[in-house]
Amino acid sequence: MDIMSMSIEELGRVLTDAGQPAFRAKQLYEWMHVRLAASYDEMMNLPKALREKLAAEHPLTVLSKVVMMESKEDGTRKYLFRLVDGNVIESVWMKYHHGNSVCISSQVGCRMGCSFCASTIGGLVRNLEPSEMLGQIYAITRDTGERVDNVVVMGTGEPLDNYDNLLIFLRMLTDEKGLHISQRNITVSTCGLVPKLRELADEKLAITAAVSLHAPNDELRKTLMPVANAYSIAEIMEAVDYYIETTGRRVTFEYSLIDGVNDTPACAGELGRLLRGRNCHVNLIPVNPVKERNYRRSLVKNVLQFQKMLENEGINVTIRRELGSDIDAACGQLRRHYESLAGAEGV
Ligand code: SAH
Repeated sequence: MDIMSMSIEELGRVLTDAGQPAFRAKQLYEWMHVRLAASYDEMMNLPKALREKLAAEHPLTVLSKVVMMESKEDGTRKYLFRLVDGNVIESVWMKYHHGNSVCISSQVGCRMGCSFCASTIGGLVRNLEPSEMLGQIYAITRDTGERVDNVVVMGTGEPLDNYDNLLIFLRMLTDEKGLHISQRNITVSTCGLVPKLRELADEKLAITAAVSLHAPNDELRKTLMPVANAYSIAEIMEAVDYYIETTGRRVTFEYSLIDGVNDTPACAGELGRLLRGRNCHVNLIPVNPVKERNYRRSLVKNVLQFQKMLENEGINVTIRRELGSDIDAACGQLRRHYESLAGAEGV
């Protein structure tokens, strides 16, 4: 395990093996996870010999910024980071009136195969380590000089397909010995891996679960999301009800609207009947067209009508505000663009 994914207890073992007193574990943890040191040289209260030994044996997992694009309209920033092994991942920084949000990736690529999503086109490369999920937040905090208030695990990857690392990440991020971000300010988005969603409920965290539904029935959902062949909407709804019951948290449903595919009044009616009476919230996302696909986003009037029909069923609905449209690159497109350029130039 890399040093920035270790708990204080695990660090304690590394340090005592190196003949160091155990209290150094707390100092080291604080440098990495509160002061967000980018190198051992900054850790001035650690002996120089120890810093050199750690640097040689346990390099810090520091993400390096490859590209940062900032929206002139609203200050949204998209980052492309390089990992230690050369893979690149995307993260987004957004400013809202209720604070700063970061959207992070949980995997390099994705194997879920959703038909409208750019992140999955090259398949799954590998899972991210806990330190690499934290590292996106740390690098952005260092870069902006501002505290991150909210974290959404909605970038590239299926977080529940990287469950163990996700849990370590969530515990470290919310720990009072680390950045201490409130569990209530964290959202984890899943395409609906039912057994893992139930496991997450059993962790009894106060985080928000978001489920990507995108269709009101299995038949249509199967044409958009291969995962629908593994789990039915009925099974998802049972798991969602279990999550609500166990955690007391409201669940969010994400629904990307694709022109003429899933945005019809018939779909809105069916979705309304499905969700009616649940402690939930629906987030409508006009689909971001992806170059490799021929989906178009829904017309504004259809989005508004879809919203209205759900509201008539008493369902709470928001339409995702579009941020950073001038730096647009739908989920995963920045990374794909970079990799195709790198390939062309033989980098
Ligand atoms: N794998 C997780 C999290 C990553 S995707 C999940 O499926 O929830 C985050 C959200 O963006 C999901 O709701 C996903 O379906 C949606 N999404 C992906 N590509 C999109 C696109 N081109 N336009 C709009 N939403 C998209």
